[in-house]
Amino acid sequence: MTNIEIPVRAPAATSADDTIQPFEVAALDLRGRVVRLGPAVDEILARHDYPAPVAKIVGEAVVLTILFGSALKFEGRFILQTQTDGPVSMLVVDFTTPDRVRACARFDAARVAEATAGGDDGAGALIGRGHLAMTIDQGPTTSRYQGLVALEGGGLEEAAHEYFRRSEQIPTRVRLAVAEEFRSGADGVRHRWRAGGILLQFLPHAAERMRGPDLDPGDAPEGMEPAVVPEDDAWVEGRSLIETVEDIELIDPAVSTERLLYRLFHERGVRVFRSVAVRAQCSCSRDGVASMLKSFSRDDRADMVEDGAISVTCEFCSANYRFAPSDIEDDS
Ligand SMILES: [Zn+2]
Repeated sequence: MTNIEIPVRAPAATSADDTIQPFEVAALDLRGRVVRLGPAVDEILARHDYPAPVAKIVGEAVVLTILFGSALKFEGRFILQTQTDGPVSMLVVDFTTPDRVRACARFDAARVAEATAGGDDGAGALIGRGHLAMTIDQGPTTSRYQGLVALEGGGLEEAAHEYFRRSEQIPTRVRLAVAEEFRSGADGVRHRWRAGGILLQFLPHAAERMRGPDLDPGDAPEGMEPAVVPEDDAWVEGRSLIETVEDIELIDPAVSTERLLYRLFHERGVRVFRSVAVRAQCSCSRDGVASMLKSFSRDDRADMVEDGAISVTCEFCSANYRFAPSDIEDDS
């Protein structure tokens, strides 16, 4: 895991933390979003007290989910979920429009410690192999849309690229960064998580310009060489610029989103749109947990009673709800 040293600085008058900043580079037909997270990601990760390499992956998944979920043009939820054979066997991040995010992970602490000790604690190694599912949920009256992509030992950035290449066929690049900031003060050393990311997409008016060597030859007859279509120059320029983005530029609050975008695209002209705030907030509630418990049979509920009460802890936010068995009698 790379540790990034974040310079100590005076607090800025206006913080860009916990924001989503959409932008456009019209001259290159590029559109994208930058996400910067301070307190929101720290709140999510601090609640769980995950080992640092696990927290870092959850942070990346949070950024990726916000980058995707904030594109929804309607009210709904965007859910990112992994299921894999690695030490971090499951990640779930849930973005509810317009601005709420929550996240949790399941992991095997012994296997994480083993991987970390062996120096193999990158996201790809910890996640392992399996799949990444992205679900859009517009509420109970509409059907869910789900996209699946294989995870094959690469990290989440790689999976995101694969998803867009296969499912959406929109040339897309994503960069994700997460780091822990340490600051010593009178009360000892305090650490806080920060995270950031950028998503760039090539969306020309003429769809054939989106073609590139990446595109699957589809059902071409066997033995036929796929035609090599060169990538569009505008997209090559865009993705080359994104590859120069350093983690620190996505995380350091002293580098504003505008400054980053200006550095990347000033020669072409970049337009930023109104930024949107994002916050860490769980959607669990005592009523919600109670109705979930009511959906179990009386016998199953009886098995859940310990020390005279049923205790349920929310996996996302660690909130604990305790009920006396009599609180959850069937209404009927
Ligand atoms: Zn919760």
